[in-house]
Amino acid sequence: MELYQKTIHEIASDLKAKKVSSVELTKATMAHLKAVEPKVQSFITVTEEVALAQAAEADKRLASGSNLTPLTGVPLGIKDLLCTKGVQTTCASKMLEGFKPPYNATVVERLNAAGAIMVGKTNMDEFAMGSSTETSYYQKTKNPWNLSCVPGGSSGGSASCVSADQAFGSLGSDTGGSIRQPAALCGIVGLKPTYGRVSRYGLIAFASSLDQIGPMTKDVEDCALMMNVIAGHDEKDSTSANVAVPDYTVEMKKSIKGLKIGIPKEFFPEGMNPEVTEATKKAIEQLKSLGSEVHEISLPHSPYSLAAYYVLAPSEASSNLARYDGVRYGLRVPGENIVEMYSKTRAAGFGPEVKRRIMLGTYALSSGYYDAYYLKALKVRRLIKQDYDQAFEKVDVIVTPTVPNPAFKFGEKTDNPLTMYLEDIFTISINIAGVPALSLPCGLSKTDLPIGLQIIGKPFDEGTLLKAAYAYEQSTDWHRRKPTLKES
Ligand code: GLN
Repeated sequence: MELYQKTIHEIASDLKAKKVSSVELTKATMAHLKAVEPKVQSFITVTEEVALAQAAEADKRLASGSNLTPLTGVPLGIKDLLCTKGVQTTCASKMLEGFKPPYNATVVERLNAAGAIMVGKTNMDEFAMGSSTETSYYQKTKNPWNLSCVPGGSSGGSASCVSADQAFGSLGSDTGGSIRQPAALCGIVGLKPTYGRVSRYGLIAFASSLDQIGPMTKDVEDCALMMNVIAGHDEKDSTSANVAVPDYTVEMKKSIKGLKIGIPKEFFPEGMNPEVTEATKKAIEQLKSLGSEVHEISLPHSPYSLAAYYVLAPSEASSNLARYDGVRYGLRVPGENIVEMYSKTRAAGFGPEVKRRIMLGTYALSSGYYDAYYLKALKVRRLIKQDYDQAFEKVDVIVTPTVPNPAFKFGEKTDNPLTMYLEDIFTISINIAGVPALSLPCGLSKTDLPIGLQIIGKPFDEGTLLKAAYAYEQSTDWHRRKPTLKES
């Protein structure tokens, strides 16, 4: 096995035992990253110089043997909507081409403090709007399992780089499914934490009441290790919760005997891809055989979650994206007067999907429509949240498929936005309710495309999620399957 193929927990023990230095590891990872990058195109910016400087620092820490964490010296990818001081941060938009933030996002600061290495900024859908990474202004990231398929999105580059072993783990963000859906499509683990669990300071906002940052990793243990570093209260984010953070690697190893699992009937609609249904049902059987109890439940308002989301998220986005006016950040297209400058800048800087969302949002928020759309969507949001509250009175976790289908081909869903929006049918209600959920590999289709299992938890109970996921993972070998970078 090559060094770069290992997991974080495996390479951490090699680093600690001085079998390899961080500089050697970073060089080997960088060489592999560059070798496969022309095929997969995971990164908008590769940060080799930063990585090697950080690796040299990590080696000093490793030599002294003090202040070590499992991430010390380990190469990671960072989604390109997280501010990185002095390193271009584009949100995959032309609007922010060349933008170098003057500060780091809190999650980046935390990774730096833990001694992690940043190998690059990963590709994504423009401003995180999309489910295939095809709306990126820069490039199309390929799915390592089949290069003619999309990696999912919006954290497509964060998923592909981990799947193709270009990094040991990555950070993504999830507003309606953007960590879990690409994790499912690329055969890796992805966790969207509880709203407020991880600081959003320095995350370029899409929909502030739904956005969360989370880890994307090769297995569940790595996910727990990254959570240990990034979770926790941050004064700089007023929505960050002051709730104690457990050691997730300890929580993860606890028994799942007697764990109550809810299966919501709304998440198994007729006409769903039979391979996804079958893999999910098998995984539920497996969890049962490991000692958990399975109960049928109902989340009756979940069929309204997509409609509510496409009012709430664009409304927030239209407000958040007002700041790109040619004055403060990135692109400026000159005009005869200031209004013309604004409009020319925004016309040239944003792609069609971002413009669609801004138009949807400004419409929903305009006077006369506000009550009919935005206010109504907020009421639906409350009902969806209540569904989860009620379900969690009876069960500890909820298990569903992550996505209704495996990865699809480029261009397949770009002509009709609604077919693309339907990718998130199983992930979106979780953001609306603010609860945590994780996706992990639970099968392969006949054409060798990964299938993901979603486990949903109570607020701030990521520990139980990880415990269920770890027990399942340890009894299967889906997480050890590797993509072949083939083209079909
Ligand atoms: N695909 C959804 C959207 O386009 C969710 C994206 C996300 O989670 N950032 O809005």
